[in-house]
This record gives sequence, C-alpha cells and structure tokens, in this order.
Amino acid sequence: MKIGMKLQMVDLQGQYQRIKNEIDASIKNVIESAAFINGTPVKEFARHLEEFTGAKHVIPCANGTDALQIALMALNLKPGDEVIVPAFTYVASAEVIGLLGLIPVMVDVDPGTFNVTLKNIERALTSRTRAIIPVHLFGQSCDMEAILDFAQQHDLFIVEDNAQAIGAIYSFRNGKRSQTGTMGDFGCTSFFPSKNLGCYGDGGALMTNNDVLADRARMIANHGQKVKYHHEVIGCNSRLDTIQAAILDVKLKYLNEYNLARNEAARYYTIQLKDVEGIVFPEEKAYSTHVYHQYTLKVEGGKRDTLKKFLEEDGIPSMIYYPLPLQEQEAFRKIARSTGDLTESSRLASSVLSLPMHTELTREQQDIVIDRVKKFIF
Ligand SMILES: *Cc1c(COP(=O)(O)O)cnc(C)c1O
Repeated sequence: MKIGMKLQMVDLQGQYQRIKNEIDASIKNVIESAAFINGTPVKEFARHLEEFTGAKHVIPCANGTDALQIALMALNLKPGDEVIVPAFTYVASAEVIGLLGLIPVMVDVDPGTFNVTLKNIERALTSRTRAIIPVHLFGQSCDMEAILDFAQQHDLFIVEDNAQAIGAIYSFRNGKRSQTGTMGDFGCTSFFPSKNLGCYGDGGALMTNNDVLADRARMIANHGQKVKYHHEVIGCNSRLDTIQAAILDVKLKYLNEYNLARNEAARYYTIQLKDVEGIVFPEEKAYSTHVYHQYTLKVEGGKRDTLKKFLEEDGIPSMIYYPLPLQEQEAFRKIARSTGDLTESSRLASSVLSLPMHTELTREQQDIVIDRVKKFIF
C-alpha cells in the first residue's frame, strides 16, 4: 500500500464520527417532526449564525451560488451594469453576474494573498460600475477597509463572497473587528460539504445589516412574495433544507474549533517546509485571521504539475484551485470585460497547489506530505 493511501484532501467521515450522536439525533428530530421545508431548525440556525457572526440578518438559501444571485437581484442592478470581480476565483463569483445580464469586470489579484486589492479595483472603475464582489479566497479576508471606503466614495455596493472564509475576522485600523461576510451590503456564504462550515448536501446563506435589503432578499428567495400567493417581484425558489439546517446548527458550535485546527495545521506545514526552496507560502496579513479553507502553495520554475504527480505516486492527494482564471474561460469570453493586465491571475493558475487541509489532519499525516515534498527536486 502506498504510504499516503489514507490521506484525503478533506476528511468528512472522520469529522462526522466525532459528532455522530448529536448529528444523528438532530436529523432524526427533523424526520420525526416531518417539517422538511422551513422547519424550526432553519430559523434557529439562522438566529445562531446571526449571533455567531454579528450580522443583523442571516437569510438561509439553497446554496452559495444562489446567495450571490439573490444578493445581486436584491440590489436592483440593471442589465449592462458593471460588477467588479477577481479573475482568480471559483466560477460562481462571476457566473451570477453574467446570468443576470450584468457585465463582469475582471480584475487581477495580489499574488501573495490571492485576493483583490484596492489598486486592482481602482483601475476598473467606470461610470457604469455598480458593485464589487470581493472574494475572501482560501480563508483570509480581503483588505476590506480600503475597499469599503472606495465603494462609499463612488456609491458602489459590496457583495462579499464569503464561501471560503466563514469565521475569519477582519481588523479595522481603529481596532474594530468584524467577521468576513458582515462588512458589505451583503455577505454570501456556502455550506457545501467541504466548506469550513459544511452541511451534508447543498446549502447557503446571505448576511446583511440592512433591514430593507434583508426584506428584499427574503422575498426574492421565496418566489418574490411576502404574503403567500402575492408576488411583488420575480424571484426564485431557494431554501435551506430543514435537515441541513439541523446539521449546521450542530456544526456551528464547533466552527471556531474547526477553524483553529485548520490554522494550526497550516502553521505546521509552513514551519516544516520553510527551508524548501522553490515553493512560496500563503501570505498572512495582520488585518485578518486566516481560517485556511485551503492551504495553497505556489510552486516556482514551472514544476507544479510534476510535484503534483510526484505526490500522487505516493498516494498523496493535492488539488489545483484554480487551473484556469476567468479570462481564459470560454463562458466569459463574450460577456466579460477586463481591465489592466491579469498576469498574476494567469501565473497563479499555473503555479498554485493546495495540500490536504481539514479538521481531522494529524501530525503524522502531515509529516507524510511534508517528507514527500522535501524529497522532490525543485
Ligand atoms: C463554493 C463557492 C461558491 C459557491 O457555493 P455553492 O454552495 O457551491 O453554490 C461561491 N464562491 C466561492 C468562492 C466558493 O468557493
């Protein structure tokens, strides 16, 4: 058997085993109550997530992509309006822009943090810009203070894509601390199983501190109705399953612990690999905590793919998030606009490699990965 055989990118089975009793009981409760749609656990989980994040409103929905779509719909954007989005992200961040007939304006990211910076955003501003979607990629917040100030000056909406950073905390210069997803007009998150707070299927939520926007988002997610069978606007049907909410309500109690475990595992990788030449470590910024949705290295000298293969030969998994930046995706060729050059995003797509990262990772497992990386000739 290959030495890395038992290693996984994510270990959801191991995580479940530790909380099995609580989870099983919560699922059973839902089944026995038969309140499968909008049952009590949905409201309870939303309230607990409000308490946890400090957001005034949490609006559960069917998945993270829907959350982004509902946010843009609630902001009343018109076809042809421009929305700024990083070129290096998961497709959902930009897909919803195109879906609504808006124009995705792709901007480059900082190669150290993988996130958009104010400098990238500034160049993209036109008279048609209406919103920015900062993505807190891999678990660390964008530098939000600068982006929020800029948005205020130019009357732009901010929709944070917080699918990968739930529980991360951003520090403002005056000492104020806010959770990611609670600083913009909307914050959107995903409960996809492998996310830091994942359910056992699909799920998502919007967060906002704005009562009017919260009302609109709730209405849109519910067929555009506030009163049953009275439809004010065209909406959609996007609900968080009661069973998923019940599961999430259990897992939310462990989120801080889970994020801490990820952060510690990341620290161990970085310390143990620090003398290896040819790899660059994820940059941690003082303004944000890092919840390490992914632990992502940059492999220099064009050796990323050979390193990936070298790990694979020993049964060690690794993943490329993301192999193609948005500007190279066929789907965006005709509808998106880009400003400036997107060199860093292209370069990242060919140099990033994410190592196994999850809440159950042991030192022994990490040592297997570390030893193998050290054996590679860079
Ligand atoms: C996972 C993810 C989404 C979409 O979430 P789904 O629940 O899969 O729809 C959006 N943006 C980013 C950055 C993500 O990682």
